[in-house]
Amino acid sequence: MPEVPPKALHVSHAACPYGHSIMDPDVQISGYPSIKLILQHDELRETIHLDPVYGSFTNIFEVEIPQGAIIDLFCPVCEVNLRIDEKRSCEQCGAPLFQFTLPHGGMVEACLRIGCHQHRLQLVDFDSQAGLIQGLNEIQLLM
Ligand SMILES: [Zn+2]
Ligand SMILES: [Zn+2]
Repeated sequence: MPEVPPKALHVSHAACPYGHSIMDPDVQISGYPSIKLILQHDELRETIHLDPVYGSFTNIFEVEIPQGAIIDLFCPVCEVNLRIDEKRSCEQCGAPLFQFTLPHGGMVEACLRIGCHQHRLQLVDFDSQAGLIQGLNEIQLLM
C-alpha cells in the first residue's frame, strides 16, 4: 500500500459500526467537519471532537485527561463502544485500540491511550481510492 503523506488526507465520512455518521459539520477543525465522539474516563463522560486530518492531532477536548490514561470512545448516536474487542493492541504502547469505519469498507484504527498517536488507515476497496492517494496533495475520502 502506498504511503499516505501526513496531513494529505482528511476523513469526511466516518461512521460507527452501525452506520451512524460521526461527522460534526458544526465544529470544524483544520477547516473541516470534525469527528464527534463520546469520551469516557472513570466517572467522566464528555463529548469530544477529533481532528479529521490524517496525521494531525488538533483534537478538541473540553476535559482534562491525564497523559497516558486509557479512555473509551462511543458513537454519539447509538453509544456503541468503539473499542476493538480483539487480541490486537497498540504496537507502540500495548493499549487497546478503537476503530471507526469509512466508505468502501475502509477503516481507521487508533490507540485509546491519551498522548499515544499510533493510528492506521486501512482502505479495503483500495483500487477506487489509489488514484486519489497518488495524484493529489489533499485527499478527501469519497462519499
Ligand atoms: Zn452508532
Ligand atoms: Zn498506543
